[in-house]
Amino acid sequence: MTLPGGIKSVSELPVEGKRVFVRVDFNVPLKNGKITDDARIRATLPTIRHLIERGARIVLGSHLGRPDGQVKPEFSLEPVAARLAELVETDVALADEPVGDGARKVVSDLRDGQIAMLENLRFHPGEEANDEAFARQLASYADIYVNDAFGTAHRAHASTAGMVKFVADKGAGFVMAKEIEFLSRLLGNVDRPYIAVLGGAKVSDKIEVLDSLLDRVNGIVIGGAMANTFLEAQGKSLGKSKVERDKLPIARNFLRKAVERLVPVHLPTDVVVATGLDAEDARAVSVDAIPADQMALDIGPLTIEAYRKVLGAARTVFWNGPMGVFEKPRFAQGTIAVARALAENKLALTVVGGGDSAAAIAQAGLADKVSHVSTGGGASLEFVQGLDLPGIAALRP
Ligand code: ADP
Ligand code: MG
Repeated sequence: MTLPGGIKSVSELPVEGKRVFVRVDFNVPLKNGKITDDARIRATLPTIRHLIERGARIVLGSHLGRPDGQVKPEFSLEPVAARLAELVETDVALADEPVGDGARKVVSDLRDGQIAMLENLRFHPGEEANDEAFARQLASYADIYVNDAFGTAHRAHASTAGMVKFVADKGAGFVMAKEIEFLSRLLGNVDRPYIAVLGGAKVSDKIEVLDSLLDRVNGIVIGGAMANTFLEAQGKSLGKSKVERDKLPIARNFLRKAVERLVPVHLPTDVVVATGLDAEDARAVSVDAIPADQMALDIGPLTIEAYRKVLGAARTVFWNGPMGVFEKPRFAQGTIAVARALAENKLALTVVGGGDSAAAIAQAGLADKVSHVSTGGGASLEFVQGLDLPGIAALRP
């Protein structure tokens, strides 16, 4: 199946007997050298199995953490290669460097259906610098380029963008293909009303998204610490809540623009407050009665009801950012309620993006009840704004 923009799916590529470089996202969480969550490795298995079955010679490339262009053993892909080998029940030959004689040898030793993995691409400064010589070296290991790492598609790095033009054929892996398919449906002709739910930690992270969504959506629902800044911009007293005081003018400006464009912006009318994250005194109060010594840590029950109504009537929903400090069960109710509202709305296209939002919906056991949970945080936010992601642009014919 060909994707929007004429991008080929890996299923359309003539990979038999070819060296196929696959940019994967194996940036997994590690603790004392052990992988604590292998979801990102598992996510790429359909692409890797497809290639094994067709006798491709597979060359995997990924980054892990932020070694900043230096070889740092704690960021070695070794545990990742070992885990992948268990999952596919095949050897995975790990090169001891991203490029160079060792890498070339590991790749040239490959036979049909075998897997090689390059060492952490960010061990070399050329990766993040999108250096041409480094990109050409990576490209020299491949006849076909496949990108299955949506989470880094918003970065123009050597392995996501620079190397692609030096490889004869290219396409999207199954993870990437699903991302492009669903996120594209949030652009252009969407079923309306289209509602965006934005929450999480900071206005500053997401103000550009908010601005750009004003032109696309029929309503914006705001929660989380982000809502605090908007409430203070409206003159409320937020007590000890997390507020970005330096962003108040931006927040006011945004609210004024929304009025001009007739886009309703829904803000909390009540919040759950407490004296601290671990305090036992959590209770719901009106946003006009937040005690000076307390902080807003979740949206309140009246707000939940109002947001449920807006989301129940929506036909397209994009959600990024939790409604409260969902890591603490006491302050997770608002986030769980939004997750449920999306899961229950069977008439709508429902898309969730963002690391913490994805974790929250998984924690609520509802990840498979929405249309799509994006594997990318920053990448999904750039996509829904209609920006052209370098890693996707590079896959177009
Ligand atoms: P995502 O990863 O989905 O994009 P963010 O990283 O922007 O989301 O925000 C998630 C973080 O925001 C969580 O750690 C959560 O605890 C925090 N948060 C949400 N609401 C509040 C609040 N009212 N006060 C403080 N922190 C909050
Ligand atoms: Mg986050």
